[in-house]
Amino acid sequence: MKEDAIEAIQKLLSTPKKIVIIPHRSPDGDAMGSTLGLYHFLKKLNHDAVVIAPNEFPDFLAWLPASETVLIYEKDKENTSQIIFDADIIFTLDFNALHRTGEMEQVLTKVTAPFIMMDHHQKPDDYAMYQFSDTAYGSTCEMLYHFINYLGFKEKIDKTIATCIYTGIVTDSGSFRFPSTTSTTHRVVANLIDLGIENGAIHNNLFDDSSYNRLQLLGQALQNMKILLDKKTSYITLSQKELDQNSYVKGDTEGIVNYGLSIKGVVFAAIFIEHREENIIKISFRSQGDFDVNQFARTHFNGGGHINAAGGKSYLSLKDTVAKFEDILAKTTIN
Ligand code: 5GP
Ligand code: MN
Repeated sequence: MKEDAIEAIQKLLSTPKKIVIIPHRSPDGDAMGSTLGLYHFLKKLNHDAVVIAPNEFPDFLAWLPASETVLIYEKDKENTSQIIFDADIIFTLDFNALHRTGEMEQVLTKVTAPFIMMDHHQKPDDYAMYQFSDTAYGSTCEMLYHFINYLGFKEKIDKTIATCIYTGIVTDSGSFRFPSTTSTTHRVVANLIDLGIENGAIHNNLFDDSSYNRLQLLGQALQNMKILLDKKTSYITLSQKELDQNSYVKGDTEGIVNYGLSIKGVVFAAIFIEHREENIIKISFRSQGDFDVNQFARTHFNGGGHINAAGGKSYLSLKDTVAKFEDILAKTTIN
């Protein structure tokens, strides 16, 4: 992060401010961990801080400290819009384009308070007065750890903040297995463990608290998996009917796409999930090695993300979306 930006932010935070912290729509572990980690940090500096999420976060993150204080824009547009308009500073975390907040974008484009962006995706939009944007980091939570250090407040990181930061590092690194996991990531985590985080318990909260329905849904997803070995590709579909049959709740499909990548010879995996209420097919892409799914998602499916993990959406039916995907694949070289 640039020295002058650090100094400017230090100055901004030197007196109590009204601060709104915003994750992307359908927030994941990194989005919720980083926004709540920053929330606890700013509270310690005596700021009036609040996290406003564009929509609901999944149940498997509801144990995060202070998650009960998170306001949901789509549930209370009037009140949350007012809080956003009254803010002195707005932090946006784990995304870099305002459309990633969905309908909330209409509010955010009208505010006059300065934005501070902290994010690790490619191609940041130009809306923030101060920007800590770096694709070299595996998670926004890891960036938050360094950000607090840059500001000179390392001693403020306590067990609560560390717990939030650890959550995003674990979830965005696929439990430390994605290539973005560096020796620095492990050093940061070592420091978090020294601060007393219960890393085993956090893992349990995140990954071992599954409902029976979720496992049944996973079973259905695995049954639906198709393999195109000549393209080193696998993909999964889940229709709205299949979600309903397995009493789907938000978060139940998290991580299912990774099963496709675990097959020998597969370097590109996708999952297509029908969301009838929103009339879209939500897509996740994962890859191993050089195949750039960020580029793939951007070019063909209104999305983006990182080289090895990206997402997008389609407005076609599930069947037509898959047909389009297979068509594109036929013309794509995957090594
Ligand atoms: P996931 O597949 O877990 O939803 O997302 C994988 C990565 O791609 C995450 O970093 C996420 O922020 C990003 N991503 C997911 N959906 C979209 C999208 O519609 N647009 C963009 N630009 N990025 C996305
Ligand atoms: Mn992230």
